[in-house]
Amino acid sequence: MILDSVKVRSIDTSISSKGGRILDVKVNSSTSFLTPVRPVSTIELSSKSFLGYRGEIRSPIAALPLNINGEAFEKFKKNNGMVKKLRQELESTSTNTAFSVNFPILQMPELSVTDIQYEKIAFDMQMNTRGLDYFSMPVYKCSPADYEMKVVDWCTSLVDELKIGCVPQLRMDEDPEHFEEKLKILASLTKSGLVNVINVRFSRPEDNLHQYTKLWECRDKLDAIINCSEVPKKGNDIVPGSLFQDYETQIIQYGIDSISRRKERVSPKFIVTRNFAPSPTSLDEVDPFYVAVHRASATISSKTWQSSSHEEYCTCPVCKGRAKSDIIEAYAYKDNGEIEPSGLRYYSVLHDQQSDALELEKVRKHISSEDMRTYDMTVKGNREDLQKIL
Ligand SMILES: [Zn+2]
Repeated sequence: MILDSVKVRSIDTSISSKGGRILDVKVNSSTSFLTPVRPVSTIELSSKSFLGYRGEIRSPIAALPLNINGEAFEKFKKNNGMVKKLRQELESTSTNTAFSVNFPILQMPELSVTDIQYEKIAFDMQMNTRGLDYFSMPVYKCSPADYEMKVVDWCTSLVDELKIGCVPQLRMDEDPEHFEEKLKILASLTKSGLVNVINVRFSRPEDNLHQYTKLWECRDKLDAIINCSEVPKKGNDIVPGSLFQDYETQIIQYGIDSISRRKERVSPKFIVTRNFAPSPTSLDEVDPFYVAVHRASATISSKTWQSSSHEEYCTCPVCKGRAKSDIIEAYAYKDNGEIEPSGLRYYSVLHDQQSDALELEKVRKHISSEDMRTYDMTVKGNREDLQKIL
């Protein structure tokens, strides 16, 4: 199902704020939602399945990144078994997100306009996948004129003929002038209704300020959900080794409407090694992970989280306000009592998404009252409090 309409509802334009916007997204005649919103993504689905978590991990939208980089891309280009494997992976996640409007994100190297054979593989792979509401366009390294031609070509083939949506992509580290022109092309296509979801690939705002500023300038003209993919959980150090920045709050204020985390490909060799390795004898030996504290727009390293005497109570449906010791008890062990090395890492993924959904409710209230400045100050205060107790 393609989203019925996406309209800018309000923008925080107060002089002391950086921006931020709320979109009114109509799914159909009876369902709608507001942004910023946190999609369900592939990593949460695999974490839920690994943990056997029985609660629902829901969101009105689902972003399904598919990693086709490195060796996988070389095999993909040969259009052999790798394409089938990727298609099955995508189909499995699309089936598991049937309750949301879903869109894949092809995480693959940039194509040139002449790479039509790889473009065709990407198109056909999605065409043969059941349950996709949108298709993802690859990222192209090309001029704005060629980009417009590609987007219009994909959109008219999909939207007009097949009633499937199309998600164009842009890189946040793209050449600044090209980025601006491509954004204007997309803005005009959102007005005509051909495009209503766009994916931008994360790059650090501090290194790509020009592109983020251009996005900010266009935030009243883009009637589309701007999802930023590959947003790292661990940003710059706030306290080296312990506390890290989460970029989400910052990039939302440039006009980003949703974020999804990078999906890493785990090598089959690692899985085999892991399956035959003895269970860890102490919680110090489990996989490293990062626990999100969205009210401080930060993440805590696993070592700090485990060793801190402070309890970070969270009311998300995964944590349910439980003490840290209860969370460890619930997720760090296998049924036979042995330590599960990935358990807490998967817990941290589910908590990140679910607690973010709660935090974004607060963000929406602040944007609609044009008061993101107060939100920023609250986040800063929460972060300082956290630094004191870690
Ligand atoms: Zn939580």
